Amino acid sequence: MWLAVRAVRAVRGGGAGSGSPRAASGAAAAQLRQRLESELEDIRGAGTWKSERVIASRQGPHLRLAGGGGGACGEEEEESSIGVCFPRCDGPASLSVPAGIINFCANNYLGLSSHPEVIRAAVEALEKFGAGLSSVRFICGTQSIHKDLEEKIARFHQREDAILYASCFDANAGIFEALLTPEDAVLSDELNHASIIDGIRLCKANKYRYKHMDMQDLEAKLQEAQKHRLRLVATDGAFSMDGDIAPLREICQLAQKYDALVFIDECHATGFLGPNGRGTDELLGVMDKVTIVNSTLGKALGGAAGGYTTGPKPLIDLLRQRSRPYLFSNSLPPAVVGCASKALDLLMESNAIAQSMAAKTQRFRSKMTAAGFTISGKDHPICPVMLGDARLASVMAEDMLNRGIYVIGFSYPVVPKGKARIRVQISAVHSDEDIDRCVEAFTEVGRKHGALP
Ligand code: PLP
Repeated sequence: MWLAVRAVRAVRGGGAGSGSPRAASGAAAAQLRQRLESELEDIRGAGTWKSERVIASRQGPHLRLAGGGGGACGEEEEESSIGVCFPRCDGPASLSVPAGIINFCANNYLGLSSHPEVIRAAVEALEKFGAGLSSVRFICGTQSIHKDLEEKIARFHQREDAILYASCFDANAGIFEALLTPEDAVLSDELNHASIIDGIRLCKANKYRYKHMDMQDLEAKLQEAQKHRLRLVATDGAFSMDGDIAPLREICQLAQKYDALVFIDECHATGFLGPNGRGTDELLGVMDKVTIVNSTLGKALGGAAGGYTTGPKPLIDLLRQRSRPYLFSNSLPPAVVGCASKALDLLMESNAIAQSMAAKTQRFRSKMTAAGFTISGKDHPICPVMLGDARLASVMAEDMLNRGIYVIGFSYPVVPKGKARIRVQISAVHSDEDIDRCVEAFTEVGRKHGALP
């Protein structure tokens, strides 16, 4: 039947994908277009326009960019130092970007996004369970693999239960409103991720914002919040712009003193921080003091998509009844579930991949520091190279790409004024040579542009 539909479309030369776009007519549409164009111009004028580079290969340590950079990737695959296969990039360079771009700007901390076993698990889940559920979970969208993955996530984090979402953005959007009422209070680090900020906006609890990782300020806010029924301290476990780690021990001590609960967002920690990769709470020895963990399946855990909350069973039960992004959005597709499930299996079997990433992080941080750069944070694969000046960060990042090193410069308003930086993210699948090439390129580019003497 599908063939017949395709044949009819071919004869008519039509189908959903053909024809030029239709512009809506009428005064309101014209007014809207004008307003949008002026807003877009403002963004360009402010120098905060975000453009997207198009990748024409798999996510991995070596990339090919669409339209040129990175050389031609053949069908062959090369094996990295941890036994992970990636498309080989050895074709001729084109444009000004050299062949074999080394990628230092994905959250692919463990290199599992293109791990052959992760890909195989996705294909098997796709074949066995189909493309998707065409339903939310509570109508007819729960398969055995969703329940298995939730059980695995809870076991991984040593929590009572877990609930899946389409993303961690959704997990953060859904938890505060479901849990907190106007009788309660939430205390949030000022540099928390946008999705925590939005989730908190949606709830009716009393809101307190404490200065970034400032325990005196948190204590003062906790004292103020004593009048409310329940207090929830919410923080990123690791902060993605600075590579710094929340002082969870101190936060948990204060939470105990002022009878508060602790929530952490572990998107930049799950799978690799702590002796067994359980996250910031394991790293800092407070797994039994943190009540709620939200995290993503879209970074270290296979990199596909998806998020979750794990914690006490009654909380997870309540989220299944009340959390709006869970109730009113489609189930995670089986292939995505398959990826994450296999990634967790690999991590529960061995922490060799996480150790490999830690060693490479250490190599990069120490070589860059020896070269004269300041790297923010400590022991985290997010390694922000602090430059201060926004223009310097931007031209250096561009020049790094000309040398085949893909890194991104960040400046105001993404980071505070005067604190522009180039963020480098280390992955377990970078080789030592990749790391050394990156340091060499930074040193050359830094000297050229005056960031180094
Ligand atoms: N929380 C933090 C700290 C993040 O960095 C991100 C993603 O950038 C998210 C939440 C959202 O995660 P997801 O991509 O699963 O929606």
